Amino acid sequence: MQMEIFDTAETWNRERIEQTQLLRLKATLEQARNCVFYRERLDAARVTSGTIRSLDDIRRIPFTTKEDLRSQYPVNLLCVPQSEIVRMHCSSGTTGTPVAICHTQNDINSWADLMARCMYMVGIRREDVFQNMSGYGLFTGGLGIHFGAERIGCMTIPAGAGNSRRQIKLIKDFKTTVVHILPSYALILGGHVREAGENPRDLPLRIALVGAEPYTEEYRARIEELFAMKVYNSYGLSEMNGPGVAFECPAQNGLHIWEDAYIPEIINMNTGEPAPDGEVGELVITTLCRQGMPILRYRTRDLTRFIPGPCACGRVHRRMDRILGRSDDMFVIKGVNVYPMQIEQVIMTFREVGQNYLILLENDGISDVLRVQVEIRDEFFVEDMRVLQKLQKSIAQRLRDEILLTPRVELVESNSLPRTEGKAARVLDTRHKK
Ligand code: ADP
Ligand code: ZN
Repeated sequence: MQMEIFDTAETWNRERIEQTQLLRLKATLEQARNCVFYRERLDAARVTSGTIRSLDDIRRIPFTTKEDLRSQYPVNLLCVPQSEIVRMHCSSGTTGTPVAICHTQNDINSWADLMARCMYMVGIRREDVFQNMSGYGLFTGGLGIHFGAERIGCMTIPAGAGNSRRQIKLIKDFKTTVVHILPSYALILGGHVREAGENPRDLPLRIALVGAEPYTEEYRARIEELFAMKVYNSYGLSEMNGPGVAFECPAQNGLHIWEDAYIPEIINMNTGEPAPDGEVGELVITTLCRQGMPILRYRTRDLTRFIPGPCACGRVHRRMDRILGRSDDMFVIKGVNVYPMQIEQVIMTFREVGQNYLILLENDGISDVLRVQVEIRDEFFVEDMRVLQKLQKSIAQRLRDEILLTPRVELVESNSLPRTEGKAARVLDTRHKK
């Protein structure tokens, strides 16, 4: 398989995209047969590259699940001799045993091209100074985005995660214009700048790539406002390389999924059938350009929907909506299904609310209780009790309107809730523990 991803694929028309997808899907099926796992799977389903005549035929290919990938750990899914592998990455293990993905030099090159395409799309150029605040190491947000930035020619600072004081110093010393940062960490970093008596808006930052965990439109607005910079949503997962799978364009209305490199589907989680256009379901992705470890119809467990219709920017690669959460993020309390993002969406509209929040699911011996702890900005915490009580009440009411259940809202001081260096833990469920 030889790919020229970076040429003009970003602006292909629908016909060109689909023709290429079909050819690459067939090639990927051939490639996948180089490992026992897929050869047996495909034989059992009687699928060969010859039986795939149209893109709709993709539905004849069995799904691949995270469990499948785990069962083939570490290298059973290799479809090239191991000597051709130049790098491996793992998922960050947010939800259990990691999965290892191995890349050939060609895989690494096309990934870097995709990442560069995302960054170039939102106006990042070689004159920019790019500071990557993602953890490096096995986590793909480090090297994955790093290689994309270098491909554009940015001066790239591999700052790594955490250590806010050093991050701020680097931004100032090297006049960083673009950062890659976790949404939860962006507000924390802004808080540190303020604590030092400075205004985050005075920093030279103009663009942030923000992803790796779910966040809402309200949260985006906060980060943009805090730093006076544009925030673009970046989506990816280790199984599909990492970042560079889907990215927001300047229209900031959905993320373009790069369909020359992936076939995205949205399915009904329970039936596995395609979800009706525009409806929320589970995102399923097939790699089209991967040699080392091609993956067929991977069930991401991420919930989103396709955004129908053309994008204002003119690109025709399909758009997905921001991720609502993982299917396993949903919790059930008193018979009601709730996603943490529904809660975030409400609380982040209150200007008194600070950087952090925590959702607690508890059992008080009689019934389940939903508690929402919300950090309040210092300037509001000094208000008198009545004002705070009123705020507490109105947050609870607005939450009830959204999730149809009244939580116990607790206002806490800023910086009092636990922080993580990696992806934020938004929910603490102690209901089934003694
Ligand atoms: P892990 O599954 O261990 O967290 P990854 O580092 O591969 O490993 O993370 C990929 C996952 O991160 C995605 O499946 C998705 O749930 C989440 N994610 C990545 N980017 C975004 C984003 N922009 N919005 C929401 N969730 C995201
Ligand atoms: Zn667009």
